[in-house]
Amino acid sequence: MMRNADLLKIAKTYGNPVYVYDSEKIISQFNRLTNAFKGVNQLKLNYAAKALSNIAILRLMNSLGSGLDTVSIQEVQLGLLAGFKPESIIFTPNGVSLEEIEEAAKLGVQINIDNLSVLEQFGGKHPDIPVCIRINPHVMAGGNSNISVGHIDSKFGISIHQIPHLLRIVELTKMNINGIHMHTGSDILDIDVFLYASEILFETAKNFKNLDFIDFGSGFKVPYKEGDIETNIEELGKKLTGRFNEFCKEYGKELTLAFEPGKFLVSEAGHFLAKVNVVKQTTSTVFASVDSGFNHLIRPMLYGASHTIENISNPQGRERYYSVVGYICETDTFGNNRRINEISEGDILCFKNAGAYCFTMASNYNSRYRPAEVLWHDDKAHLIRERETFDDLIKNQVDVKDLFVPEKVKVAVK
Ligand SMILES: *Cc1c(COP(=O)(O)O)cnc(C)c1O
Repeated sequence: MMRNADLLKIAKTYGNPVYVYDSEKIISQFNRLTNAFKGVNQLKLNYAAKALSNIAILRLMNSLGSGLDTVSIQEVQLGLLAGFKPESIIFTPNGVSLEEIEEAAKLGVQINIDNLSVLEQFGGKHPDIPVCIRINPHVMAGGNSNISVGHIDSKFGISIHQIPHLLRIVELTKMNINGIHMHTGSDILDIDVFLYASEILFETAKNFKNLDFIDFGSGFKVPYKEGDIETNIEELGKKLTGRFNEFCKEYGKELTLAFEPGKFLVSEAGHFLAKVNVVKQTTSTVFASVDSGFNHLIRPMLYGASHTIENISNPQGRERYYSVVGYICETDTFGNNRRINEISEGDILCFKNAGAYCFTMASNYNSRYRPAEVLWHDDKAHLIRERETFDDLIKNQVDVKDLFVPEKVKVAVK
């Protein structure tokens, strides 16, 4: 188990800010999801690489028997580098070129196509390569329209209303559809809504004779703060398993039930540690400014995500209200009016749920280095990414200094 003392030691050893991931939590989430669907004959979990794509994490997933869900050719390459077999990788991009899809197909990964234009082109050129199709069932799975992708204006998936056109393309190109997929949004709050979307998927599946799998995407919600609703995985498992097995009977073939969880597997395993640079009392609040900002953790500013913040340097201290902010020269508030154990300058704050969409969304804004990453595994800390250095900032820049020697610069004089 990882304790606060371990986290403090990691911050001391590797510096801050630093991301720390607890492998035990990732493994237990993987097992929990697997157990919830143990009644299914063939279950495949394809970890969504974009949530957290460090090669060490990918290797851990591979060792658990997970497949990999990828959205770019680079994620496919990372997966192969981390030891995934091409056939356990699914490529589920949106809006990428035909060439990128062909490149992935050449590497032997499962292709998932989400628009009719590319489907028609790909099927025309490569009728022998089996393809999965991403369907948009137009079901709103989440409350936040930024992250719900099933609605009518969504850019994701092929609308169920376009099935006749889709079938025409498949018939004319004689391509082979081996999977049906949906990924309706990031939050499954209501299991009945999810099951309703599943029925649409089953209905669609009946149009295809050679399916190997049905992929239900993701959207498993994990709690970020006290009182948050969490997807009831066990209930979903029970209900969907029964219905899926029934469908397989109807269909006349044992299909694989696939999911692509990202957040569910890695969110809670992550801890982001930052040091308090300044405690600043103003007329209206007390700011605690940390040595980080939305360059390292953008979810609070981008999505309004509420990451619980703890002062692990003073866990017994008296609780006070703080506004925790970053050092970026723009508003970058991590949390307002947070009850946190009394903060002194130099204390280490721990941001919870920092596993998913945190490091992978980090940038170099304000010319800051992206943080180090550490994996806590078998009661030991393992550095899995070094903090960037100044060299990283200038590595790809081409310094055209010869253009600007004073003699050559023409100054416009009126
Ligand atoms: C991002 C993504 C996922 C993972 O979603 P989570 O909410 O992190 O579980 C799964 N499938 C696809 C196609 C995605 O784009």
